[in-house]
Amino acid sequence: MTAGEKVIEDKVKTSPEKSSITNLLDTVKEETGSGKVLVHNKKVEEQETDTKLEAKITAKTTETPKGVVRLELSLNILDINKIDLEYSVSKKARKNYFILTMAKKLAVFDFDHTIINDNSDIMAMNMVDRKYIPKEVKDLHKTDGWTVFMQKVFEILYQNNVKEDAVNQLMMNLPAVAGMTELIKELKQNYNYDVIVISDSNSHFIRTWLGANDLSKYISEVFTNPAKFENGMLKIQMYHFQENCKLSTKNLCKGQVLEEFVDNKKKQDIYYEKVVYCGDGLHDFCPILKLSENDVACVRDKYKLLDLVMKAQNGQYLDEDGVVKNLKCDVCVWNTGYDILDFLKPKNDDCVV
Ligand SMILES: [Mg+2]
Ligand SMILES: [Zn+2]
Repeated sequence: MTAGEKVIEDKVKTSPEKSSITNLLDTVKEETGSGKVLVHNKKVEEQETDTKLEAKITAKTTETPKGVVRLELSLNILDINKIDLEYSVSKKARKNYFILTMAKKLAVFDFDHTIINDNSDIMAMNMVDRKYIPKEVKDLHKTDGWTVFMQKVFEILYQNNVKEDAVNQLMMNLPAVAGMTELIKELKQNYNYDVIVISDSNSHFIRTWLGANDLSKYISEVFTNPAKFENGMLKIQMYHFQENCKLSTKNLCKGQVLEEFVDNKKKQDIYYEKVVYCGDGLHDFCPILKLSENDVACVRDKYKLLDLVMKAQNGQYLDEDGVVKNLKCDVCVWNTGYDILDFLKPKNDDCVV
């Protein structure tokens, strides 16, 4: 190491991370990986005049399996001794970098037939003999929407003496799709994902299931039709009312929910560099069409959503106005949660901080 290198190394080392390293790394971030920046150290600046380093910085980041970023900075110092210096920042500085610039990722899960292997509403409905559900009730979801239909079903359950406890027991014991609980935990704990659920089931069923399966703490938010037991009967409401989106039900446009969620996060300075959407049904198509090139649609094999996604991927999907709707995102076709995990795993795993 030459004297010049030593000086620069000391300056970077002694600099308070919040000023110099933060500034440096902010600039790296702004200039997406490289650029000419001014590295300065407030502490030294007060005593000396020549402590500003003009440097060209190249930052190479590698994601590790634990979701941590390994950062290598090459500083090409331009105004002090014209030295090229390979400099690996200290662990502490790496941590700062991680906090500053590790954009988060978002995983969105449908609930029925995606997290759990059944449809929770149908399972609840099956608690009474179908003969108790008259045709005019069965037709309600076509005319008045799914939540109106389910409210009638819950009334019929109540009239047939199906108790709250029995409903809760049924929900708690619905089996997960293989690998889904592992996937959710891994994404949250080791891959820097926020996890949310957007579902046309209801809050009571989903909360009950997540609680019983020890998953509540991994899921930031659940967007669904609000429901709760009142005097022994389940009362359900629409999540919202919309008529703009023809791909979605009136009570829930999952695409709109997703967009609003991401926009709200932006207002809190949280940017998702990747959105992963996992689903199986026709109503999962709307949010998937809104995904970008960085995102991934995880589509359950042999379920209805797959045909639509395939069509859109091949440029053969026309919207109601006859306009071709192309898919921008990547597609992962899955049978289990493990398939999704394999797809999302960083390909370069050999780098550990
Ligand atoms: Mg579903
Ligand atoms: Zn929609």
